[in-house]
Amino acid sequence: MPDSALNTAEQFTPQPVKTNLLGLSVSKLGDFFEQLGEKRFRATQMVKWIHQMGEQDFDQMTNLSKSLREKLHETAEVRLPEVVSCQDSTDGTRKWLIKVEGGSCIEMVYIPEKDRGTLCVSSQIGCALDCSFCATGKQGFNRDLSTAEIIGQLWIAAQSFDQFAAKAPRRVSNVVMMGMGEPLMNFNNVVDAMNLMMEDNAYGLSKRRVTLSTAGVVPALDQLAGVTDVSLAISLHAPNDELRNELVPINRKYNLAQFVESAKNYIEKMPDNRRKATVEYTLMDQVNDRSVHARELAILLKDLPCKINLIPFNPFPGSDYKRVTNTALNRFRDILQGEGYTVTVRTTRGDDIAAACGQLAGEVNDRTKRQQRYKNKLAAEEVPIKLLD
Ligand code: SF4
Repeated sequence: MPDSALNTAEQFTPQPVKTNLLGLSVSKLGDFFEQLGEKRFRATQMVKWIHQMGEQDFDQMTNLSKSLREKLHETAEVRLPEVVSCQDSTDGTRKWLIKVEGGSCIEMVYIPEKDRGTLCVSSQIGCALDCSFCATGKQGFNRDLSTAEIIGQLWIAAQSFDQFAAKAPRRVSNVVMMGMGEPLMNFNNVVDAMNLMMEDNAYGLSKRRVTLSTAGVVPALDQLAGVTDVSLAISLHAPNDELRNELVPINRKYNLAQFVESAKNYIEKMPDNRRKATVEYTLMDQVNDRSVHARELAILLKDLPCKINLIPFNPFPGSDYKRVTNTALNRFRDILQGEGYTVTVRTTRGDDIAAACGQLAGEVNDRTKRQQRYKNKLAAEEVPIKLLD
């Protein structure tokens, strides 16, 4: 056999696949330890080591016996996604570019406010839903993130703020599943990751502080009502089907009436009757910002316990839409408030590092070819090819 063939054969000797413990729930960790011939209570110890103390090295896990640590070295690992870059905005917003298995990159953003720190977490590499005003949608779609890749984002943020140190303040007090991707299209992994976020022996976030945002995958939202009661945000962006069919194409499959009804059912099943859905409405100049739209929205939402969050559109290179004017924004808000709704206006954060809402793009190895079509469009219009800086 020639040397080169031998080298190639050696190079590709398959390595035993190790179980990544990062994304396993307490119950799945219990199964894992049982298979190793250990007691199930080891699962709680492991969750605390990984998610409360930020430990990846089995040798530092001092309440595990030496023989167990040896077994763990052979069979398991705590493998995190790789941080490629971390940028800080002048307003305190922090954005990470994170490489996941397969080479694509996702983005994650932390937004500090007076009384909280919110981490916006991604659930997929890109997004298949192709909302017409969204930078992520323009990147196309690659795959769902694993539970480890989702919870790994919170781990990375916690470590970056030194949150694993004893008695350290909890800088990440809230998580919103609002980054890249539609969380309900990655149902099981997202639910498992949210459960770890709320697990007392892990991050211990209350269900009020974990929010899932959906563009309207109605059957999955119906299903969610049976498995969790995290806070819910619904991304509407239009008050009637004709307009929403253009802005949020999944509306052609599940229309507004179905979506709002499903959200209402979800809210009604929550044990705490004070809870409300948050309605996200991105305002775009001359598209969905007229008085008639505000009045239609008020009627559409009349039976849904909710508050409304208005988001001025953040333009990105080649986007077809413009930011709402202040006059139209104030008029829209006043009409809704006049109808008795609680309305907030999202202030733009992290604009200087392209971390503002709707600007997350990452680097997606696009399987849908949508990215290429978009790049062709930008080239034809002589807009710089790169989607975002
Ligand atoms: S707005 Fe949300 S659902 Fe729509 S394309 Fe963007 S990430 Fe996907």
